[in-house]
Amino acid sequence: MAEKIIMLGDALSPPPAVPSTLEAPTGLLSDALARPLHDLRISVTDRCNFRCVYCMPKEVFDKDYAYLPQGALLSFEEITRMARLFVAHGVEKIRLTGGEPLLRKNLENLIGMLSELRTPSGQPLDLTLTTNGSLLAKKARALKDAGLNRVTVSLDALDDAVFKRMNDVDFAVADVLAGIDAAHAVGLGPIKVNMVVKAGMNDQEILPMARYFKGRPAILRFIEYMDVGASNGWNLAEVIPSADVVARIGAEMPLEPIGANYAGETAARWRYADGGGEVGVISSVTQAFCKDCSRARLSTEGKLYTCLFATRGHDLRALLRAGRSDAEMSSAIAQLWRVRDDRYSETRTINTSGLERGARRVEMSYIGG
Ligand code: SAM
Ligand code: SF4
Ligand code: SF4
Repeated sequence: MAEKIIMLGDALSPPPAVPSTLEAPTGLLSDALARPLHDLRISVTDRCNFRCVYCMPKEVFDKDYAYLPQGALLSFEEITRMARLFVAHGVEKIRLTGGEPLLRKNLENLIGMLSELRTPSGQPLDLTLTTNGSLLAKKARALKDAGLNRVTVSLDALDDAVFKRMNDVDFAVADVLAGIDAAHAVGLGPIKVNMVVKAGMNDQEILPMARYFKGRPAILRFIEYMDVGASNGWNLAEVIPSADVVARIGAEMPLEPIGANYAGETAARWRYADGGGEVGVISSVTQAFCKDCSRARLSTEGKLYTCLFATRGHDLRALLRAGRSDAEMSSAIAQLWRVRDDRYSETRTINTSGLERGARRVEMSYIGG
């Protein structure tokens, strides 16, 4: 049974220190383990219209759940200012997430603002978004026109009954597939489709999903069910290792490995031997990829998390709303990234007892996946 109350645990922690000597960003910031800062995931809302059992289970995220008030959320101007500071430090890719990002009103205005940003060498950013697809058919065109490059769509099953059990709000598969088609039609590709595999819940859908997406333009990726957050009652026995997923698909449709597109890519890539396209597996549990992890996460209320499994964030919004200058904010970010030594997945133990006693992890819906 999932616990009822979710405290984020760090509400009272002081804002990050601003160094007395300010420094100009070089675009080459790296952390204590020599990992650069390349990727920024920004959560634009903590709300969602789904109640996926592994992410926002109904018994926790019920009608009494206290979501953040509107004033706590970063405004589009605040998000863009933060993003600009991160880009000056080396971020080249921004992913909008949530909660369900398409629930944030006028999201295309934010995309328009972010699409104007340029890296220190003058390149546009790789601007992407992860969505449950429920509003995609309606919004794909506006998102593309605003400057979004690509989308990743989450879909956990092709069978309606299984999918509805997972999203727990009776949402039909056909509507997500229509969203994927609409995204493809307007050029929001290459589209990735993410399937979280939970043993005993949707693992029988691995093959039907692989068959459906084989030969179609979207790239299907299987994600190991993770022990993220504090509310999903995670259990190692419910994880299907990626190696099993590859073996199950390969037995019917032979696969061969292909190299990564870039260092730090989360998915291991496989292609069908008959030329039917590729699939990916994201082995966050069985094969950690912390060594190359270049991702920072900005929560809905402007806290910086240097790891998905962090128990506390750094309150950049407090600095921003205290009227700190860009130089002060940028120096504070540099100082935080430089000491980063997170590698939770590499050090995780079977019963996930690596956490401090009493510490609570933040929810995926709050800092985004
Ligand atoms: N609502 C959007 C969506 O579902 O795509 C964006 C936010 S969601 C938190 C981002 C991704 O995290 C989704 O692909 C979701 O399946 C994945 N996710 C959530 N909880 C997870 C868990 N416990 N283990 C693995 N992946 C998870
Ligand atoms: Fe919502 Fe995405 Fe979490 Fe599902 S995975 S509950 S769609 S935020
Ligand atoms: Fe990155 Fe933390 Fe995940 Fe390791 S556990 S890959 S450091 S987010």
